[in-house]
Amino acid sequence: MGEPMPEIKSKHSLVAKYVTKPIWDKLHQAVTTTAGFTLAKAIACATEYDDQHCGIYAGDWDSYKIFAEVFDPIIQEYHGISGDVVHESDMDVSKIKGNIDPSAPVHSTRIRVGRNIDGFGLSPGITRTQRLDVENLMKKAFANLTGDLAGTYYPLTGMEEKVRQQLVDDHFLFVSGDKNLQTSGMERDWPEGRGIFHNKDKTFLTWVNEEDQLRIISMEKGGDVKGVFDRLARGIQAVGESVKKESGKDFMLDPKYGFIHACPTNLGTGMRASVHVDLPGYTKEGLSVLKARCEELKVQPRGTRGESGGQTGITYDISNKHRLGYSEVELVQCMIDGVNSLVKEDLELQKKHGIA
Ligand code: ADP
Ligand code: MG
Repeated sequence: MGEPMPEIKSKHSLVAKYVTKPIWDKLHQAVTTTAGFTLAKAIACATEYDDQHCGIYAGDWDSYKIFAEVFDPIIQEYHGISGDVVHESDMDVSKIKGNIDPSAPVHSTRIRVGRNIDGFGLSPGITRTQRLDVENLMKKAFANLTGDLAGTYYPLTGMEEKVRQQLVDDHFLFVSGDKNLQTSGMERDWPEGRGIFHNKDKTFLTWVNEEDQLRIISMEKGGDVKGVFDRLARGIQAVGESVKKESGKDFMLDPKYGFIHACPTNLGTGMRASVHVDLPGYTKEGLSVLKARCEELKVQPRGTRGESGGQTGITYDISNKHRLGYSEVELVQCMIDGVNSLVKEDLELQKKHGIA
């Protein structure tokens, strides 16, 4: 009865560990209500590629419930949490102690959260109609924003290539072509239904229908993490209230897993707070040393052209590593402290390598 279990090429992934034959037999014929998602679709990246760490995405909120026997242990292991966590949100900027050292070679600061609106599928499963409904709802919701949050929505469809490329080069806009996003179904019907909202100064932005229905972003030049966090907190609140006013709907929020996202690694706060910072000493020392030190500081290094864009020169994207099990305030604090430590250590490494 049913389909044979597919080969899981990512042998060391969490999917390989938890999608066992009995679980496959039990769940593979289940289909979710909101987006018609299946276990086979959820684990597509793990069956297609051999390099996945998690290897699973959700196609709607239902996926986390219908396939809970797979998702729950993966979420617990990935985030290092127990089964009875309770998600707590705290965006009170006044609780943050200190800031990035003003003398640190920080180019820019960016904090984003993912948000998804109840009733529509998540990116890997969302239907074409639902995706357009989300975009149309957001056009109305964005129009209600006022003050420094007010701005304009620019759909990807029909955007001039020159404008699009400039937005990408300036680190404001997402790109297509990530193999995981493609294989998991997130680039179906590209670019229809996708777009970017931003205020005049491009310090408050929202991506529509990329990996999550919404990525709400606050960013600016320099290292004022507190100021960026303050704007983000106000922006999330304003967007949430506006969505509620226009549709009666709330963001998907689970008591245990916090804000629901397409990727289980983003569950909880869905927040990534980062700075672009120069670390010439660590660059000389080697990426593996930087990675190990970041692990200790609970931060994560990336290249400056985004997760799939790679590393160039001596500039790194340093962000909080955790999403779930900590409040937003705690994660921002961890990033500030981590970056200050790295910058201090980097000065010593520069001396050691004779480049100070
Ligand atoms: P995420 O998906 O977590 O939002 P990505 O790593 O995919 O982040 O990067 C998305 C975009 O945000 C990229 O263009 C990247 O260069 C930009 N970005 C990330 N952090 C910063 C920062 N601190 N300053 C400027 N741009 C940033
Ligand atoms: Mg991304």
